[in-house]
Amino acid sequence: MSAGLVQAAYIVAALFFIMSLAGLSKQESARSGNYYGITGMTIALIATIFSPDAQGFAWVIIAMAIGGAIGIFYAKKVEMTEMPELVAILHSFVGLAAVLVGYNSYLEPPVAISTDLAEMHAEHVIHLVEVFLGVFIGAVTFTGSIVAFCKLRGVISSSPLNIPHKHKWNLAAIVVSTLLMIYFVKADGSMFALLVMTLIAFAFGYHLVASIGGADMPVVVSMLNSYSGWAAAAAGFMLANDLLIVTGALVGSSGAILSYIMCKAMNRSFISVIAGGFGQTVVISEDQEQGEHRETTAEDVAEMLKDSKSVIITPGYGMAVAQAQYPVHEITEKLRAQGIDVRFGIHPVAGRLPGHMNVLLAEAKVPYDIVLEMDELNDDFPETDTVLVIGANDTVNPAALEDPNSPIAGMPVLEVWNAKNVIVFKRSMNTGYAGVQNPLFFKENTSMLFGDAKESVDAISKAL
Ligand code: NDP
Repeated sequence: MSAGLVQAAYIVAALFFIMSLAGLSKQESARSGNYYGITGMTIALIATIFSPDAQGFAWVIIAMAIGGAIGIFYAKKVEMTEMPELVAILHSFVGLAAVLVGYNSYLEPPVAISTDLAEMHAEHVIHLVEVFLGVFIGAVTFTGSIVAFCKLRGVISSSPLNIPHKHKWNLAAIVVSTLLMIYFVKADGSMFALLVMTLIAFAFGYHLVASIGGADMPVVVSMLNSYSGWAAAAAGFMLANDLLIVTGALVGSSGAILSYIMCKAMNRSFISVIAGGFGQTVVISEDQEQGEHRETTAEDVAEMLKDSKSVIITPGYGMAVAQAQYPVHEITEKLRAQGIDVRFGIHPVAGRLPGHMNVLLAEAKVPYDIVLEMDELNDDFPETDTVLVIGANDTVNPAALEDPNSPIAGMPVLEVWNAKNVIVFKRSMNTGYAGVQNPLFFKENTSMLFGDAKESVDAISKAL
């Protein structure tokens, strides 16, 4: 394939990636968005493998076969609830790849394009800066994503790591790395500076994500998505691959926009979250006396639903774990057939990945028009007869609005307690992902329906 044809193929692939992002922004077009992405990636891979610069065709095919087989195996095996973990670990691969590409490019610098001495020197300096920045971003993304993976999997606690002077440590990491970069360039590429910076960046990435509490994890995951994009773009500069630069920039900027949107939805400062929880003073008020809770049965809930005119269902992570979306759809249809108004209230960070609940409900064929965003129905709770909180906890926690010392203080929540009756479906009195006790469970109009959410909803469906 000629170099010109490769460039043309790259432009076509980049267009497919842009169409893919546009498609993925709406439920109705998400499937075609995925197909555009697959097409773009296929074109990109073919053009790269057959480009005049490519060598070792057999090695590439072997690597692709091994990587592809592992990818297919895990993609088939992964549960919907494990998706964020998979995404986090994939981000770590991008970070590690950028580090390896950086070292490779440092050890085997590209041949200078220019023949003019001054220009050759400028090219060399630019290359050194690219290597240094690429390795730095890649290393931060690598360890940060591994910590995110461990937090999401529950291997390490989701509560924030609070080492003394944590922000000063972060600042010191950035200042020392900047000084090392200056030295690296001045010393015409010192291996020592590169190695020390890599270790600092690994520690910095670890600390940045470990310092962030459970409730801010959604923003961290999308932020690492953004970092992985910038790491890919940096690798693109080092490899002089235009498509990698464009694709990395697309992922980097869309991840940054998503992080910003999620910060706004959660009333968090964007800068505070990307700086590792900067400015957050959290007092965990776990031991507070909460009072008594009431329990109910599936039969009583069925009776209550039959007597209701309006019902709102607020699903959360527990619905995904229990795979309760199918019986939830069933009771929705039964209630609607009796003329009862049923709607769904979706919190922007419900579940464990952006849009998690929308995907589950769409999978169970719940009509899109009764699935509303938090802002669209938060004012309607006072006129609602019954709210079913199915496996949600943090996203319906009144402490976010009432307790300024709560780790989730200030985060907008679904104000379900304003309804006439609230039924909470969960298995125990355990806390949600943020590890914060929920005063909703002890309110007078709240009853707990203990048990696996799928079994509880099935029992209600039977009783209906
Ligand atoms: P939470 O994680 O706060 O709570 C889920 C609840 O579901 C738990 O209290 C649990 O209680 C219950 N549960 C678990 N399994 C079952 C089951 N089989 N049957 C019935 N109940 C079950 O959920 P939310 O969706 O309200 O909040 C999401 C949290 O996750 C937020 O803190 C958010 O910041 C965070 N997060 C969100 C991400 C995103 O992008 N959306 C990414 C990462 C984190 P019990 O054990 O007693 O059953």
